[in-house]
Amino acid sequence: MARTLAMFTDVSLCIGCRACQVACKQWNQLAPEEPEWTGSYQNHPHFTDKSFRLVRFFEETDDKGHIKQWHMMSDVCKHCAQAGCLEACPTGAIYRTEHGTVNINQDICNGCRYCVSACPFGVVAFNHDTGTATKCTFCNDRIHNGLGPACAKACPTQSIRFGYRDELATLAQKRVAELRKQGYANAQLYGEDQNGPLGGLNAFFLLLGKPAVYGLPEKPKLPQRNVFTDSLLSIGSAILVGLGAVVAFRDRGGKGGA
Ligand code: SF4
Ligand code: SF4
Ligand code: SF4
Repeated sequence: MARTLAMFTDVSLCIGCRACQVACKQWNQLAPEEPEWTGSYQNHPHFTDKSFRLVRFFEETDDKGHIKQWHMMSDVCKHCAQAGCLEACPTGAIYRTEHGTVNINQDICNGCRYCVSACPFGVVAFNHDTGTATKCTFCNDRIHNGLGPACAKACPTQSIRFGYRDELATLAQKRVAELRKQGYANAQLYGEDQNGPLGGLNAFFLLLGKPAVYGLPEKPKLPQRNVFTDSLLSIGSAILVGLGAVVAFRDRGGKGGA
């Protein structure tokens, strides 16, 4: 396998201009969409089949409900090392590339949408025109021609960086240390640790607060793992109920015989 590629999004550098969102639409020839009012500058509320990049806006409030800080984050498919979408896909349409990214082969997708519910980040969207699941392709066509992802190229502040994962991880760790020195005590990386949740994310982030501030799960898990745990709990409960019924029956039998 080739050296793993990644995207590193540093939210401390994002100015919310949405150049990345527009560049993604343009390169991937994604059709325009009706704007949706979300109560903030964010448009749309979630990923769609025509929006693979989404600049999110958050207002962090203090205990009294006063706005403390604005946060902007350009969100995208995380190209997870343990990808729920890939594991759930029954046709093999979702595959891992030689660069470690996760793609959907549109010719093989049968539109079952198992991947939609299996993604812990709500990334996969269903395209009703093609009847297939869609998401960020990590600009597979561009990276194989030495161009780099369109979103990273368009970002005027280098909030989105593209490169080899190991080099980006070193850069990200230095940046966290720098920000903490500057007084950003809650600066932290999300998804950079390959020993962390989902084996690490190949699109990882530098956040200025807890993941919850950015609507991200603290410890993302694959829904499939929950199904397994839930199944064990259900089987355990069924056994307990069964044993309870046997005991009750024996008690009644004993009283009846006295
Ligand atoms: S973020 Fe979701 S869609 Fe992207 S690779 Fe991970 S599980 Fe799949
Ligand atoms: S990598 Fe390409 S497809 Fe993915 S969000 Fe960026 S521009 Fe869009
Ligand atoms: S282009 Fe860069 S600065 Fe502008 S919204 Fe996207 S990530 Fe933020």
